[in-house]
Amino acid sequence: MIQIYIPLNFLGVIYREIKQNLTDLDRMFVLMDRPQEVADAPGALALALPAAGSAPTVRLDDVHFAYEASRPILRGVSFEIPAGRTVAVVGPSGAGKSTLARLLFRFYDIQGGAITIDGQDIRQVVQESLRRAIGIVPQDTVLFNDTVAYNIGYGRPGASQREIEQAARAARIHDFIAATPQGYQTMVGERGLKLSGGEKQRVAIARTLLKNPPILVFDEATSALDSANERAIQAELREVARGKTTLVIAHRLSTVVDAHEILVMEHGRIAERGTHAALLAAGGAYARMWALQQNVGEDRP
Ligand code: ATP
Repeated sequence: MIQIYIPLNFLGVIYREIKQNLTDLDRMFVLMDRPQEVADAPGALALALPAAGSAPTVRLDDVHFAYEASRPILRGVSFEIPAGRTVAVVGPSGAGKSTLARLLFRFYDIQGGAITIDGQDIRQVVQESLRRAIGIVPQDTVLFNDTVAYNIGYGRPGASQREIEQAARAARIHDFIAATPQGYQTMVGERGLKLSGGEKQRVAIARTLLKNPPILVFDEATSALDSANERAIQAELREVARGKTTLVIAHRLSTVVDAHEILVMEHGRIAERGTHAALLAAGGAYARMWALQQNVGEDRP
């Protein structure tokens, strides 16, 4: 019997090992789903941030960028997000809005101009420290094939169950999780419980709350949520953004009304900028987009 048991037991160990590695491989692919084109500058220092509870100022100065040399995407973009304020970017599909977020994370290097955080050029700081300072609620949240607790706790390695639950409550996803048979141990992702777009976004919000970064990027989902869900998520996002330096990439103008400044991007340039009221009064592209959305529905483009 023992002759059979030992090899079987051994196989079991190997099986668990392979399974674990496959899961890690899944994670790796998710994490690698971005270009590895930039390297830390020699002697790069960690990004210096203001004391906990304060947020830094983010500036773009005459930023030029192209994915392929023949096709410029950003042609001299300048704006500032003052510490703790929210700037929103709107504009037609393909204008370069999400590109701004990718550049802030330094997934690519710019070809002209500078991006600075409290005066530090992001090309001169350690990438890991830069990315630790920024939280993103992306258009489409990728969930790991793991428990919902893992997916939220990922925001801050070592977070306790209590902290995970607190974040889930603040993101209004706790009741949903608690109602599933296995609660926080429910498997989600491709091979687990399928979550709706709104639920996935709430998991991302909880994850970001736990990470508690001083800079936030919201890449608003293009896929339409129902209006009630959308309004609720917007309220939760406002809560998360309080006191943080925030860039909102908006596909629906209803999201941007309260922004400190709204940038209207067209063909890689800022075509108009100002507060919601000022842009409406100016009667330009923003005012036309706003009128169009009002006609189509309260918060649908
Ligand atoms: P949307 O509102 O549809 O999300 P957007 O304004 O956010 O659009 P971006 O995603 O910033 O637009 O893309 C700007 C342009 O850059 C688009 O024309 C897009 O096709 C192109 N682009 C985006 N990513 C890449 C890439 N990895 N390689 C080459 N071109 C890209």
